[in-house]
Amino acid sequence: TTSNTPPAPATNQQSFDRARGVLPGGVNSPVRAFGSVGGTPRFYVKASGSYVTDVEGRSYIDLVNSWGPAILGHAHPEVIDAVQQAASRGLGFGASTPAETELAELVRARISVGGVSPIERLRLVSTGTEATMTAIRLARGATGRRLLVKFAGHYHGHSDGLLAEAGSGLATLSMPGSAGVTAETAAQTLVIEYNNVAALEQVFAEHGHDIAGVIFEAAAANMGVLAPQPGFNETIVRIAHEHGALAISDEVLTGFRVDSAGYWGLDARAAAVANPDAPEARWVPDLFTFGKVIGGGMPLAALGGSARIMELLAPLGPVYQAGTLSGNPVAVAAGLATLRLADDAVYSRLNQVAETLSTETSAALSAEGVEHVVQHAGNLFSFVFSGTEPLNFADVKAQQGYRYAPFFHSMLESGVSLPPSVFEAWFVSAAHDDGVVSKIVEALPAAAKAAAAA
Ligand code: PMP
Repeated sequence: TTSNTPPAPATNQQSFDRARGVLPGGVNSPVRAFGSVGGTPRFYVKASGSYVTDVEGRSYIDLVNSWGPAILGHAHPEVIDAVQQAASRGLGFGASTPAETELAELVRARISVGGVSPIERLRLVSTGTEATMTAIRLARGATGRRLLVKFAGHYHGHSDGLLAEAGSGLATLSMPGSAGVTAETAAQTLVIEYNNVAALEQVFAEHGHDIAGVIFEAAAANMGVLAPQPGFNETIVRIAHEHGALAISDEVLTGFRVDSAGYWGLDARAAAVANPDAPEARWVPDLFTFGKVIGGGMPLAALGGSARIMELLAPLGPVYQAGTLSGNPVAVAAGLATLRLADDAVYSRLNQVAETLSTETSAALSAEGVEHVVQHAGNLFSFVFSGTEPLNFADVKAQQGYRYAPFFHSMLESGVSLPPSVFEAWFVSAAHDDGVVSKIVEALPAAAKAAAAA
């Protein structure tokens, strides 16, 4: 067989060509194909700290960070050590391990405000898609109802019911949904405009008795970043509860990244500062979903909530869910190590890097007269090429998105890897030290010029 094995690819282009011969589009997840920015996707062979290195041996400062998990930077030595130790004890047992309980206890302790956690029980799964899919099944199981409400531009993974007007790769490819989803399934998801209280009231007025739950990104970050208007998450939870429906806050992307207690914790802390007499959270969803950071770069995700709802899951209750790889010991080791290392110093560094980069990028764009708005949700940020503050998916889609590809490629040429789509957040890590931040800032003027010329 060795004589039939093609030689190891030498360039990104050769790697991509070879990949396209066996992987649809040359990728295992669509956005990786550079569809909206054009050009040749980089094929990586390693990553360390704030850098990724491609097959040609070229290194780039990384602002994708594995789409979120790498808050400590890539291949943090203590995380790698924990993973190697776990691996040496066996890759998976298909049975429980003590570390799963430790991770669940750690999550419960972190997602808490004033010592109270809305997460009494947690189930570990392998991907964010599984977490949201199971949360929805639980909402239907708990309420005996059929319909789900989601917001246009929010992305919750690729399960059938959640692809309607979703963000992320669907936004990048301008796809309203997906072929292969039956009309019956699509009809069970009601899609409404984000940040629109009247739309929320109306959908519940019309279908309230039939709605099992509302799923929402705690802060939208899959159509670029678009934080909820003040009070909007609170309103979602209140209206859902008034109608006996569940509120599912998707923190797959924001959880353990924007704050040690996720976007929910960030918001609750801000509320406590604003109103010290009532330090409790203003909104508490029934279910949370987590992914990305919780697995430290390994396939791990989770859903959690009150014991009353979570214990409807098998083996205790009638809602079925299972997984051969659920709670995989190597993934759990990566997640535990990452969360334990993610202390206050890490979060303040993430915030500082995000603040500097968003300010400097905005200044570079302004210097070239490029109309834009900076979008923030904690340390997640992105830019909308538009003169007005967006509130929803339609606003975001109306931007001068064609300015992003030349901006992106200029940065890439300068050795900075940005998300290959205007509809994605920029992800910083605590490994982005001042020297690295300066290098990014030095690359900005040329990129802003390219965006202006588009
Ligand atoms: N929910 C949100 C908010 C996400 O950002 C993502 C992935 N980007 C998912 C769910 C799906 O997670 P996964 O890709 O692990 O299935």
